[in-house]
Amino acid sequence: MSSATGAGPIVGIDLGTTYSLVAVVQAGAPVILPNALGELLTPSAVSVREDATVLVGAPALARATTHPQATALAFKRDMGTARVFDLLGMRLTPQELSAFVLGALKRDAEAELGVPVTEAVVTVPAYFDDLQRQATRAAAEIAGLKVERLLNEPTAAAIAYGLHERHRELRAVVLDLGGGTFDVTVLEIMEGVIEIQSSAGDSRLGGEDFTAALAAWAAAQVPGFDLDTAEPLGPARLRAACEAAKRRLATAAEDRILLPQLQLAGGRLLDVEIPLPRALAEELWQGLLERIRPPVLRALGDAKVSPRDVDEVLLVGGATRMPCMIRMVAQLFGRMPQRSLPPDEAVALGAALQAGLKQGERSLQDLVVTDVAPFSMGIETASRWGGQQINGVFTPILERGTVIPASRVRSFVTMQDNQSSIDVAVYQGEHPHCRDNRLLGRYLMRNLPPAPAGREGVEVRFTYNLDGLLEVEMTVLSSGLTESFVLERTPGRLTPEEIGQARRQMLRLKFHPREALPNVTALARADALFVELTGEAREELGAAISVFRAALESQDPAAIDATRGSLNAIVLRGR
Ligand code: ADP
Ligand code: MG
Repeated sequence: MSSATGAGPIVGIDLGTTYSLVAVVQAGAPVILPNALGELLTPSAVSVREDATVLVGAPALARATTHPQATALAFKRDMGTARVFDLLGMRLTPQELSAFVLGALKRDAEAELGVPVTEAVVTVPAYFDDLQRQATRAAAEIAGLKVERLLNEPTAAAIAYGLHERHRELRAVVLDLGGGTFDVTVLEIMEGVIEIQSSAGDSRLGGEDFTAALAAWAAAQVPGFDLDTAEPLGPARLRAACEAAKRRLATAAEDRILLPQLQLAGGRLLDVEIPLPRALAEELWQGLLERIRPPVLRALGDAKVSPRDVDEVLLVGGATRMPCMIRMVAQLFGRMPQRSLPPDEAVALGAALQAGLKQGERSLQDLVVTDVAPFSMGIETASRWGGQQINGVFTPILERGTVIPASRVRSFVTMQDNQSSIDVAVYQGEHPHCRDNRLLGRYLMRNLPPAPAGREGVEVRFTYNLDGLLEVEMTVLSSGLTESFVLERTPGRLTPEEIGQARRQMLRLKFHPREALPNVTALARADALFVELTGEAREELGAAISVFRAALESQDPAAIDATRGSLNAIVLRGR
């Protein structure tokens, strides 16, 4: 298998808020590639060490409790914004942090496949706007990956479930409850073409909130323990214990939260053991579950379909493993949702299939995928009402929901006598006033021939391609003069020079050698636990850490493997 550029295969990447994955088509079927730790899910986490080396994935996530100032999480939320993370003086943008995660996945894929990987299909939420898509593309380029295609996450899930291969028209709803976001998308599939009909969601609702609800309740069960005033490690431990309990409750009807020697205010210690039946947890989650319904109804309403018209309901996102979530969805739609694929892998599997298609895998050649524009896009205009000029009016050219790729044109006339230039300001959004929408970019078109007000016509054409990049073309009708731009000066968008610079900077950074990652992760996880423990448990862990460090120094591979195994076993027990 080789791509047009002669490198390795095109991979599919799910760049998630909490977890990311890389997959590839092998022998016609998509498979997730494991990371250096042999795990399929790589936490979207970056941590900087005191020696300025950068850790990505599980070891970085392990440092989130011990080194919060040095660790960045959930930066996907800030893609396309000017936010800068300061990690021990290293200032990093959301694009750069995402580039670290993409770079780690690239190296993992290369190690697994034994060939260079330089091209990827990367998934983005359906609601991601132009800036967020451009930031994602830039992140991949910084990581040394050419983006073959940005693919909407629900479209990827539908592909993974093979909906495009059904030989009849069908309507599907994809519900994605991830770590921090809930997205619902209505799709229409016809003759191998997947179209997004509508999407809605709650950008502040995810699996983490279910964990937080458990933690708040559990904290209230411990006399003298207050999540806000306790020693910082107490809440972190409590949260980790609740996360583990939540996951176990997906399959167990009853669980308990165990926290030996929990640190209370004033240095007191308490052995905590709280029984937690699933029914009780579900009561605590009732308020969160209620928030699933409104976005689902909104998406169905926008697509003008009723729950009964839906042929397939797909559940994706790790948090849809919760039985209460499955029940809620089954009730809403009056049918059991599809969840035959692991919910946290479906999007990456679909991205790999799409990548396989790009590569010309014959078995997938029939698949054509289209999308819709997630927002309306248009320009700022002025109009006259009773002799009064009203400025800042948003005039859509390409309406939300338009199937893309698409090209739409609208004509405008000049406002002033002998107007010699027009300022084309491009906005996206659904509000009538430009100030409430998002400015994507502007362009000053000069050299209009002199003409009385209202007599010179200008055609503005918007062309929106499958990657979500917008080309704006303006034609002066009388002279035929045409100019165009691709929203280059949008704030937050990186120029090719800036991407090159960021890439060189990334190549200069010290990343942890991939082979050493299992060792680094074992130590980071052990350190995170060590500071939490007391008494005998702490001594036992401390001893295991010392033995492991000694083995590392001896550089004896057999000793390293054996002592790391015992250390991991202790950490697993202690968490
Ligand atoms: P992303 O937001 O990155 O797309 P995922 O789809 O991987 O993330 O979902 C992550 C969320 O799934 C986390 O909140 C995690 O706690 C939750 N999760 C994973 N496994 C389970 C499980 N067995 N039971 C309940 N929640 C789970
Ligand atoms: Mg996801």
